Amino acid sequence: AAQSLGRAFTQADAAALLRRRDRAAHKNSLGHVLCVAGSRQYAGAAALCAGAALRSGAGLVTLAHPAAMPRPASPHALICTPLGDTQRDDVFGDAMVPQLQQALLNKNAVVYGPGSSPAATPDVLRALLAAAIPMVIDADGLRLLAAHPELLDAARAGLVLTPHPGEMAALLRGVGLVDAMPASRSEQAKALAARCHAVVVLKGQHSVVATPDGREPTINLSGTAALATAGTGDVLAGMIGAMIAQGMSMEDAARCAVFVHGVCAECWHDAQRALIADDVVELIGSALRLVA
Ligand code: AMP
Ligand code: MG
Repeated sequence: AAQSLGRAFTQADAAALLRRRDRAAHKNSLGHVLCVAGSRQYAGAAALCAGAALRSGAGLVTLAHPAAMPRPASPHALICTPLGDTQRDDVFGDAMVPQLQQALLNKNAVVYGPGSSPAATPDVLRALLAAAIPMVIDADGLRLLAAHPELLDAARAGLVLTPHPGEMAALLRGVGLVDAMPASRSEQAKALAARCHAVVVLKGQHSVVATPDGREPTINLSGTAALATAGTGDVLAGMIGAMIAQGMSMEDAARCAVFVHGVCAECWHDAQRALIADDVVELIGSALRLVA
């Protein structure tokens, strides 16, 4: 029997979610995102994620990163909290948890995982899950979850998981859904969302967004294959975090950010140069203006 792949998420849907900024807005009323990201080798992923959160309208963005990773040179608006020891700590580890608890105070959304390295231990992610702040988990954070699915039991607030197809396969295996491996991308996202009690964004052409309540997933139709380049997923994670921090529900933020992220790629008209993730961050403002 023909199976519905999901409802298309449209520009009108996105526009309805993107409200004009209140003229009396203050940075403290627009949400504070904590990006917990990066490692010495992948400092750029952390900068892309945090920069995208700022360009997506969050009032404040703090980047918590391993201390041996240099502070990103830009954006200057970024608040940086180095965790651990400057000489030693290339990746996230258990000794950073007390400092991380401080960094979590007064945050409205957390993004964990971009560039956080496969060598990070699960302790930081466990502490974040216990913090009762809505969280986006991406990239190496998803690899950690796939290897330690019991971490999900510690979750005290809503989660958005943003796997690309490779991370999705690892997650389905990790949580034991592989025998009943659903056929379509929609069915996979739906099954993982139900199993993890999380909003799931299965990325790629026509990204699928599924919710834990089993409603029909939405399919995103914006975007181009220009996004198939390093770091664009890190940008998306920051965008979702910023939209949550500004007051959207987790599923609305996921859908809206995925749509706007795709429109960024559609705004790229430079025939001389390939789009890179840094360009996506710079295009968020144009895309938001086009969509809203
Ligand atoms: P990542 O693999 O984590 O860097 O994420 C890549 C990002 O680019 C995701 O948001 C994908 O949905 C998007 N993307 C990759 N390839 C395509 C494509 N062919 N068409 C549209 N979007 C894509
Ligand atoms: Mg990625």
